[in-house]
Amino acid sequence: MKALVAVKRVVDYNVKVRAKSDGSGVDISNVKMSMNPFDEIAVEEAVRLKEAGLVDEVIVVSAGSAACQDTLRNGLAIGADRAILIETDVDLQPLAVAKLLKAVCDREQPQLAILGKQAIDDDANQVGQMLASLAGWGQATFASKLVVGDGSVTVTREVDGGLETLALSLPAVVTTDLRLNSPRYVTLPNIMKAKKKLLETLTPDALGVDVAPRLRVLKVVEPAGRKAGEMVKDVATLIDKLKTEAKVI
Ligand code: AMP
Repeated sequence: MKALVAVKRVVDYNVKVRAKSDGSGVDISNVKMSMNPFDEIAVEEAVRLKEAGLVDEVIVVSAGSAACQDTLRNGLAIGADRAILIETDVDLQPLAVAKLLKAVCDREQPQLAILGKQAIDDDANQVGQMLASLAGWGQATFASKLVVGDGSVTVTREVDGGLETLALSLPAVVTTDLRLNSPRYVTLPNIMKAKKKLLETLTPDALGVDVAPRLRVLKVVEPAGRKAGEMVKDVATLIDKLKTEAKVI
């Protein structure tokens, strides 16, 4: 069976982002970009399923500018077999991404779509759920363990109260949580091999998807600065400050 993995190019998690001075968005000029960390976990999981003989082909898909090719090549270096770039310069919102992924699922007919639980730029946590709904497939979000059986997948999910186990019929959508696995380091030979793997480019038009934004961002502002902390000399001073100065915000 095929596994399709959605990978987003985002600002690297080590970068401290800044709002643009005109409040129109986040300044990402000259900033390091990387694969969304949850998507790296998703690719790793799909590649492990392939190595275990449970998946025949792993396809990585990214929607965005031509620069997403780097993200896809990274997925190929982890071990995916081929890549699809849905190229557009439109600022994609989660519903548009979910529709694009649904169109790719219609073409490729994967049994398993693995996504990150959220993209660390917008922290939307929406695309996996929307894709499952559009495709009419079962969904298991926040996966920390995944066992593929015959025509089904059993997923352990991280929920507020602890762990929940769901059994889903395939095809299904799974979104990854942090504890699912630790992605491997990509090696130079695999980076070289990835350059030769197939990377197909499609457009939203070719997939028949209207990606025009439906939500309007009114303003992006920096969070208010926080006051520096203070070291106190002993517990008695700390208790005194808690009594007299500390406030519930
Ligand atoms: P979100 O709902 O935006 O937080 O994103 C959840 C997941 O959807 C991400 O971890 C990716 O797996 C996938 N995703 C979001 N945006 C894109 C995109 N532009 N291209 C490919 N996958 C995406």
